[in-house]
Amino acid sequence: MLTGKTAIVTGSTSGIGLGIAEVFARSGANIVLNGFGDAMQIEKTRTDLARRTNAKIVYSPADMSKPKAIEHMVRQTADTFGGVDIMVNNAGIQHVAPIETFPDEKWDAILAINLSSAFHATKLVLPHMREKGWGRVINVASAHALVASPYKSAYVAAKHGVLGLTKVTALETAEEGITCNAICPGYVRTPLVEKQIDDQAKAHGIPREQVINDILLKNQPNKQFIEVAELAALALFLCTDNGASITGVALPMDGGWTAH
Ligand code: NAD
Repeated sequence: MLTGKTAIVTGSTSGIGLGIAEVFARSGANIVLNGFGDAMQIEKTRTDLARRTNAKIVYSPADMSKPKAIEHMVRQTADTFGGVDIMVNNAGIQHVAPIETFPDEKWDAILAINLSSAFHATKLVLPHMREKGWGRVINVASAHALVASPYKSAYVAAKHGVLGLTKVTALETAEEGITCNAICPGYVRTPLVEKQIDDQAKAHGIPREQVINDILLKNQPNKQFIEVAELAALALFLCTDNGASITGVALPMDGGWTAH
């Protein structure tokens, strides 16, 4: 389905990004993996994925908070594969604290990684997409692009910003075979969320199961975590011809959370 296409998936050494990279690789795309982690583990992930899928997989260690590193990653991708057809802006971090005590450096880091990186990457890949008259920009936002929760000022601000960027990107590219959409997941049980479960359990002095049921899944009406595979399937659909007219929208996959 994606044979001959090249996809950059940021933050794909783990969680949702890795799941999307896997599904795209199975569909025949060349993949640029990106993200942090143990070098040997990342190389194992890369080689295992390449063996399982027969796709060409390269790894970029670009720090998405650094515009120069993003530029290098996009140039390296174009040199290796001849362009960029699909850009998945997925890298993200979280920090939870009340506004008055929210550390300035965490605010800056969350805005840089969760929002500005999507701007820099989009700016650099659009010329490649325009050249081919085809492209897909998929921003992994969050239910927090649509609604807020206390103690997540930076994250909620960044994700609302990602949705704004998504709409502008869609409008600027609408006549050129390029789409841009924001996928808005509810809670998905990835390392990012596991850390929140640990932090909240410690902060409130309650067991992890209670954090899951009383805090995390409280607003998720179906009371279930979203599966990475469900999100990856949605991302793949957006890359098909049947997804060609979907652009500039937020696509919640949140068990009903944002229906509240
Ligand atoms: P995760 O922690 O499993 O993965 C995050 C990835 O981002 C990792 O590969 C990590 O190495 C990478 N990363 C972090 N900082 C980076 C940087 N500076 N440069 C490059 N890569 C960096 O988290 P996840 O849950 O898979 O989250 C992926 C995306 O999905 C994030 O944007 C997150 O906000 C969003 N999201 C997650 C959930 C959830 O419940 N897990 C819900 C809604 C949205």
